[in-house]
Amino acid sequence: MRHCRSCGCDISDRPKRHFICLRCFGDAARRLKAGDMPPPSACGPTCVAIGLDNNRVSQLIKLAHPDKHKNTEEANDATAWLLHVRDTLAEGVKYG
Ligand SMILES: [Zn+2]
Repeated sequence: MRHCRSCGCDISDRPKRHFICLRCFGDAARRLKAGDMPPPSACGPTCVAIGLDNNRVSQLIKLAHPDKHKNTEEANDATAWLLHVRDTLAEGVKYG
């Protein structure tokens, strides 16, 4: 079973490339459109603060690649998420 990374609800019926449920996606899209940022307490550390940048994500994509992990579901899930992170960083989306 896969869970929404925002609220934790079941998203097993959603396409594999989706990591949050439609409700959370809609909420995030509305906040972005309105220019609202979540409160700092909901953000946690920033990408910069933890050293998460394109170079680090590229490194992790290479390390997690399913070809190196017998094509396990875990490797596929981690790689798909890392690709999502890379795309998100490329879009310049910032939450705090
Ligand atoms: Zn959700």
